[in-house]
Amino acid sequence: MSEKTTDISDLGEFGLIDQLTKNFELKNENSLVGVGDDAAVIQVSEDTVQLISTDMLVEGIHFNLMYMPLKHLGYKAVAVNVSDICAMNGIAQQITVSLAVSSRFPLEALEELYEGIHLACTNYGVDLVGGDTTSSTSGLVINVTVLGTAKKEDVVYRSGAKEYDLLVVTGDLGAAYMGLQVLEREKEVFKANPSIQPDLDGHDYIIERQLKPEARKDIIGYLKELEVKPTAMIDISDGLASEILHLCKASKVGCHVYDEKVPIDAKTSMTAIDFNLDPNTCALNGGEDYELLFTIDQKDFDKIKGNPHMTVIGHITNENDGIYYVDKNGSAITLKAQGWKHF
Ligand code: ADP
Ligand code: MG
Repeated sequence: MSEKTTDISDLGEFGLIDQLTKNFELKNENSLVGVGDDAAVIQVSEDTVQLISTDMLVEGIHFNLMYMPLKHLGYKAVAVNVSDICAMNGIAQQITVSLAVSSRFPLEALEELYEGIHLACTNYGVDLVGGDTTSSTSGLVINVTVLGTAKKEDVVYRSGAKEYDLLVVTGDLGAAYMGLQVLEREKEVFKANPSIQPDLDGHDYIIERQLKPEARKDIIGYLKELEVKPTAMIDISDGLASEILHLCKASKVGCHVYDEKVPIDAKTSMTAIDFNLDPNTCALNGGEDYELLFTIDQKDFDKIKGNPHMTVIGHITNENDGIYYVDKNGSAITLKAQGWKHF
């Protein structure tokens, strides 16, 4: 270790990754893309690539077993990985699952975890092909690696957005974050008085969005049917703002995003208002929606116009124009990412 010490919290997650990986060059001709996109891209034949991504969920950081049933955790651990393959316009095929687990978990608990993994494997059509199991001194850590496939010409990177493209988001945003707020509130109520039953009435949708997110594999199918190949794509794990910044940075473009266009479910808005939060802020900075954010050429607009799964929220501009969030009155503010700060 060198004598100089730098606090990793000053770097943030992405600064840390950049710093640690900056001296690595790809040596193998078949390593087409390494660090920096939703999945790595490895050429396996003239026209086919393999996609690889990995995600780790850590107890106390990414989930709290007080309200996260293990079955849901298993499902979510797979879904968030499949989501990264979707973000490359690919099809997930295999997963490996690695666990670090303490003896406080009985066999039955881990079987429940694997029931969720099994259900996700069934729903997404992926095969569990291996993993690793080790002990942990306290919490549970689950790491899933996913392998996928795509035709080389179909792969969509974060870096392909061009000026005048339209910025599109799938589904609705902010629900997973508001689901988490409700679960956290009920946890505090329960801690204060364990005899009070949690009051989750009317919050089914947002709680499901937090506990059982789905990868938008369906969107990959719709895009194919519509014959739309996005110019750039990323999945929304950390929050819309953070992902817009990643996409624009990778594509070297700017953009205008219109706050009134951002799709927010009425249940999300109502709960946000109950919590004294601005629904748009929740949609922008709340994470874990696992929707897809992509850009399309304007000539494809007619193909997605009116599609219930896709909403145009803005357009791409020149890099020098900056990245702006425009409110109803037309005033533009520079978009900043809050995202999740793990450190
Ligand atoms: P995502 O949110 O799509 O899962 P991340 O934000 O976790 O992606 O990671 C961004 C990129 O950095 C990805 O290409 C990922 O593979 C890479 N990456 C993350 N952590 C590390 C690490 N510790 N070492 C090398 N590459 C990493
Ligand atoms: Mg991703």
